Amino acid sequence: MPRAASPAPPPAHRRPGARRRAGTLAPAPRPCESLPMTPIDRALREAQAAAARGEVPVGAVVTDEAGTLLAAAGNEVEARCDPTAHAEILALREAARRLGSPRLPGCTLTVTLEPCPMCAQAASFFRVKRIVFGAYDPKGGGVDHGARIFAAPSCHHVPEVIGGVRETDCAALLRGFFEARR
Ligand SMILES: [Zn+2]
Repeated sequence: MPRAASPAPPPAHRRPGARRRAGTLAPAPRPCESLPMTPIDRALREAQAAAARGEVPVGAVVTDEAGTLLAAAGNEVEARCDPTAHAEILALREAARRLGSPRLPGCTLTVTLEPCPMCAQAASFFRVKRIVFGAYDPKGGGVDHGARIFAAPSCHHVPEVIGGVRETDCAALLRGFFEARR
């Protein structure tokens, strides 16, 4: 005698006390490392790499109008025995080389520290559209402090300037570096 088919058990998620399966939830957000880096994040990474080489931890990147990364560099003063090998100078030169032009119109220089007078003047010579920097530098800066290069009548190209971006992280990196050296 055939047995009556027993009714199929209810689907798992309808059983009392059953939890929704993870697969039915929205996908988990991707970890931060896999998200595209912002220019200041990338500059911070260059600064950290510079610190690991024993250089003052300053990093810089140059991006074009579309946000494409053209160059990234950290300080290489010690490695090159060159006090002018600041991150900004190296990144600007590399970006110009890549574009095959001594001018970088539409480009943004992003740097973890307020540029010194030399780098501020160089950014003007390279005709960058914008400078974004992290920490302010009352002692060595040349944009909002000291020489205030872009306010000088001798400066013929004045970029837009945005200071204080990720200021806390950028300043903490420098502070940590110099405290460790004492
Ligand atoms: Zn500089």
